[in-house]
Amino acid sequence: MKHLGGAASALLLTETLRAASAQAGQTPTPTPVPTPAPAGPFTLPALPYGYDALEPSFDAETMHLHHDKHHQAYVNNLNAAVAAHPELAGKSLDELVINWATLPEAARAAVRNNGGGHANHSFWWPTLGKGGAAPSGELAKAIDGKFGTQAAFQDKLTDAAMHVFGSGWAWLVKLPDGSLAIESTPNQDSPLTAGHTPVLGVDVWEHAYYLKYQNKRADYVKAYLNVLNWDYVSGKFAEKA
Ligand code: MN
Repeated sequence: MKHLGGAASALLLTETLRAASAQAGQTPTPTPVPTPAPAGPFTLPALPYGYDALEPSFDAETMHLHHDKHHQAYVNNLNAAVAAHPELAGKSLDELVINWATLPEAARAAVRNNGGGHANHSFWWPTLGKGGAAPSGELAKAIDGKFGTQAAFQDKLTDAAMHVFGSGWAWLVKLPDGSLAIESTPNQDSPLTAGHTPVLGVDVWEHAYYLKYQNKRADYVKAYLNVLNWDYVSGKFAEKA
């Protein structure tokens, strides 16, 4: 093939592009229709109370955004990941969240972030409400045994929540040996991945508090402790004990 000089090849390229765009002009490309997110296999669980049930600690507008938009987005993105990677079909949410690191590399980030987001929020909503001002039964004993007092426990959880850099969660978890621990996870990582069972947790993503509390995360964590449903959390702990 004859070698063309720089100017000549630039001219040839220009002509080629012009021809291509003229041709495209004759047959306009239809506007692409966005593909709707698949409806399953995962679905957004309804809140187990009204959007305004946690007022004034958590305002209804934040609850709508947090549940209807943010949690829904994790569900949609997880369903899209399952649709795009047939090897994920039939796996439960827990299986995906626990084993994300063993999945094909192309699916890992989507499952880690959106599977984690779906699992963490699905766990979280029922732990909120206005049930009981303090832990009871086995959980009360376990917290006292580990932290000394309820106040000391709340201080340690608050400290963990305040020290999450950027977005993430602070948790009270049960370790495989049955003991309690406070830990934090970045982004939407779940304690389940490390084999830790969440007992309760506080979402410290700004989407959880920015509308009402702006940058005042400490005030939001206090508000969280006001709407923690200790009856529910204590009951779940006793069930799994
Ligand atoms: Mn959240």
